[in-house]
Amino acid sequence: MGGNSPCASCKLLRRRCAKECIFAPYFPADDPYKFAIVHKVFGASNVSKMLQEIPVHQRADAVSSLVYEANARARDPVYGCVGAISYLQDQVSQLQMQLAAAQAEILCVQMQQQDKQQEALATSDYQLLLDDAEIEKSLFLQNNLPQLLNFTSSNSSVIYDSFKKESLYGHDMVS
Ligand SMILES: [Zn+2]
Repeated sequence: MGGNSPCASCKLLRRRCAKECIFAPYFPADDPYKFAIVHKVFGASNVSKMLQEIPVHQRADAVSSLVYEANARARDPVYGCVGAISYLQDQVSQLQMQLAAAQAEILCVQMQQQDKQQEALATSDYQLLLDDAEIEKSLFLQNNLPQLLNFTSSNSSVIYDSFKKESLYGHDMVS
């Protein structure tokens, strides 16, 4: 800035770089393209006016924003950085949709697993019930089988006895 080496802006505009040159802090001589693109898109006088209107501590950010916008406008003359913003917004919404779909799929798999677990639990409960019923049945048989057998045998013995009696009677009658 100042002296013999003019800033990139003053070099391009072929003017003497004054000590208080507004461009000098932001457009160094070793990066001529930075000013060239901003000058091409916005015009040097507009850039100068914009920089004068904003506080000194915000000028560096303003310059990088202007450079970014100028580059975007050079790449996409119609939409500029709006094109980049809408492209990124599209990507964000596509990724959000993919994320929602993946989350729904995870939920689905989790619910299927829960169903399987409940099914397994229900089956084992049923098995336990069956086992209980089996144990009760065997206990019932253990406790009552002798009676049942006695009943059956006594019943059959009654039949046998009556048959014997009949045969006895028959025998008696025959004899
Ligand atoms: Zn200058």
